[in-house]
Formats: sequence, structure tokens, C-alpha cells
Amino acid sequence: MQDDKTYQASCHCQKIKFKFSWDLAQGIHKCNCTYCYKTKYQKVFVKHGDLELLSGGNFLATYHAEPSSWPKDHIHHYFCKNCGVQVYSKGFLQMDHEIFNGWFYAINLATCDNITPEEIISAPVIFENGIEDDQMHPPKVTQHL
Ligand SMILES: [Zn+2]
Repeated sequence: MQDDKTYQASCHCQKIKFKFSWDLAQGIHKCNCTYCYKTKYQKVFVKHGDLELLSGGNFLATYHAEPSSWPKDHIHHYFCKNCGVQVYSKGFLQMDHEIFNGWFYAINLATCDNITPEEIISAPVIFENGIEDDQMHPPKVTQHL
């Protein structure tokens, strides 16, 4: 995308490092599903090819949420097995959509090392009603997210 910027990201212990290209205008997603809520996961979505793992692949551990409405192999939550920080989730959808058509990443914004508070504040916030499996619409209550 034209306004994409390359962001550097890492887990807390710096074993896992990756970079991704993303446009602030695409917004920061906050969801009320049990996974995002318990992890305070603020995420940004990128296409599969827009994330590059730079180091620490051997420290990546994966978690499958059970039960989940997603097909078992269609969502993988990745975290660092050394420091425990969740870095990104990899998901699979087939929609008529620029990002959600094939594999995509939901990156934990908190891992991003070169984004400024001003950039974060300027990005639109998109709320998802994940707890009711309605990710494309905001829930009635969002202030707690
Ligand atoms: Zn780590």
C-alpha cells in the first residue's frame, strides 16, 4: 500500500525480531473476545507477505484456543517461549478483502519498537465484537477494551 511504513518489532527478551509494513490509516483493532481481552491484545492486521521474521524462529511457541469457532488449523497464536510475550497471531480467512483472503497476521502492537505514541494516538481504533463472533462490527460496550 502506498502509505505503508516499515515497523520493527520484538518480544521482551529480544530473541524474536521481525518487521512488517503497515499503514496507520488501517487502524488499531481492539476486540472483546476472551483471547484479546485476557491478553489486552491491540492488533494490527497485515497480509502474509508483509511480515518478515528476522530472528528467533526457534523461540516461537504456538497456542491454539479451545474451544474456538475457527477451524482448528486456521488460527495460531505465537509467543516467545523465553519471555512469554505474544508477538503475533497467524490466521486464515477467505473473504473478498485485501488482507483477509488467505493467510494473514494479527500483530501485537505492543511489540512494535519504532512506533511513536503520537502515531498510535493518530491511528483510528476499530472495535471488534469477537465474543459474539462478529469481528466486523463493534460491540455495544467498548470502553473497557
Ligand atoms: Zn522473548
